[in-house]
Amino acid sequence: MKHVYGVVPSRRLGRSLGICPIPFKTCNYSCIYCQLGRTTRMTNSRSAFYPPEEIIKEAEDFVKKYGEKSFDVITVVGEGEPTLYTPIDKITDGIRRLTRKPLVLITNGSLLYNGSVRKEVSGFDIVMPTLDAWDEESFKKINRPFRELSYKEVFRGIVDFSRKFNGEIWLEVMLIKDYNDSIEALRSLKGRIEMISPERVYINVPVRPPAEKGVEIPEKSRIEYARKLLSAMSIENLSVSNFLSSENDAIKAVIEIIKRHPMSENDLKEFLLSEYDEKALERFFSLESEKHNIERCSYHGKVFYRYIQRREKR
Ligand code: SF4
Repeated sequence: MKHVYGVVPSRRLGRSLGICPIPFKTCNYSCIYCQLGRTTRMTNSRSAFYPPEEIIKEAEDFVKKYGEKSFDVITVVGEGEPTLYTPIDKITDGIRRLTRKPLVLITNGSLLYNGSVRKEVSGFDIVMPTLDAWDEESFKKINRPFRELSYKEVFRGIVDFSRKFNGEIWLEVMLIKDYNDSIEALRSLKGRIEMISPERVYINVPVRPPAEKGVEIPEKSRIEYARKLLSAMSIENLSVSNFLSSENDAIKAVIEIIKRHPMSENDLKEFLLSEYDEKALERFFSLESEKHNIERCSYHGKVFYRYIQRREKR
């Protein structure tokens, strides 16, 4: 399947069926911590990258095959920024006809200043925007946005949206050592978060290989300080024991997952053995990984596998 992936276990959402409406690494940010690597398709223009019917059909096929009981939520999430897709409301409308399960949008929140985007995403139950920066300088350092995006406008957009949205806002902060984990930075973030007044705040840390070297997890004591100051919950490492894929082919299944979630070697082995068999494991480890755009890398003493793509010519 091209657009539907998982079911992926999520500590915040339970078992999440993912829907990706945009091409790989299409984004208007190039965050230093991005687990998908540097942005190869940097754009701030919204587009119907695929017909909505094609995306809805895949979701329909999944629900028919595995049933609604196989997932807790449907999450629209990009291999980049999903609100670059338009008309996103056509997708939500189509999915609403398939299931009553909650519909969640994971977004960097950058386009919520745009009235059309706000209208199109108003049908979600939960919107999960990101806020890692507190001013223009920190925004440029951490999120490295498309040149025309300003912090002021993006932040104002999230605040305005949160005031009118009928669903819940669950805000996520990626905490990075020496970038936004100082006491001053955290106090500034607290002020910003209070203006958004989200239903929940989550603190995440870069547990998977980041796009840039030097991106590190803050000290435990600092994460705890931030958690208390921001009245947040912290996201712990995810378990992959409940991964499910609708792909019959094990290699395709792994690629579909690592396009969105790089996997540690242990998690990958566990997934292949529980969902497929030893032969699939052997096949995976004898692949010429470059041919399949798979990169093997080490991070914090663990080996990870992630999907890479060469930068597109512009
Ligand atoms: S973390 Fe999200 S917003 Fe940042 S570059 Fe990656 S896909 Fe884009």
